[in-house]
Amino acid sequence: MDAVTAPHWFRTPNAAGPPGQEPPPMGPAFRSGFVCLVGRPNVGKSTLLNRLVGRTVSITAPKPQTTRNRILGIKHGPGYQAVFVDTPGIHDARDPLNRRLVRYALAALEDADVVLVMVEPLRESQRVPQAADARVLAHVSGVTAPRLLLINKIDLASEGEILHSIARFNEAGRFDEIVPLSAKSGRGVARLEALIPGYLSPGPPFFEPDWHTDQSEQMFIAEMIRQELFR
Ligand code: GDP
Ligand code: MG
Repeated sequence: MDAVTAPHWFRTPNAAGPPGQEPPPMGPAFRSGFVCLVGRPNVGKSTLLNRLVGRTVSITAPKPQTTRNRILGIKHGPGYQAVFVDTPGIHDARDPLNRRLVRYALAALEDADVVLVMVEPLRESQRVPQAADARVLAHVSGVTAPRLLLINKIDLASEGEILHSIARFNEAGRFDEIVPLSAKSGRGVARLEALIPGYLSPGPPFFEPDWHTDQSEQMFIAEMIRQELFR
């Protein structure tokens, strides 16, 4: 993860913070890592993220991308810290420039400890995923990092459709886990939360406990407050 904005202190190979700065308290079994969340626009990524992180961290306006991965939110779980990242550019690739960007984005995906691929359920008459989901699945098909398939919006699907979707997506790509869930209602999210720590690596947290998103977002908020104060 070379392209991430540095927080106050960063994990180093000897698992200590910068000189003179103590990392937060942690047990020997603490786990941490990067979780990449990919999926077509509107599939429910922000909704899931806000639920997982436990607060609204999602950035609603598109911002210029200067890094290969963008930090979306930080989950401070019991005994673990999961840093959720977005990989810009994976979602659409029709022209040569965008195809090049996707190759670049895919290299970034390899840095993730685990990749969450979010799609929507299929209707029982659907044999293959809708085009936008299929494109995302095609993009991640070569990623060697562990991949979990999240079938979101199951609150809009019947039990039959959920089972059908699991079977179909299982054929469409090899995933370490398939998790049907509803980011909106929360159903199935606990199962995902229970799975994530197992994919993280033993080691101290990357961010201090009061960090919930990346520095640029916090600076953005600080800027907003500053503007209000000026008025
Ligand atoms: P993103 O573009 O992938 O970040 O998608 P958003 O999280 O912004 O969600 C897009 C739309 O889908 C919003 O209107 C959400 O309320 C809705 N949505 C997200 N998750 C669910 C879900 O599990 N069930 C239903 N019914 N709607 C959802
Ligand atoms: Mg979003």
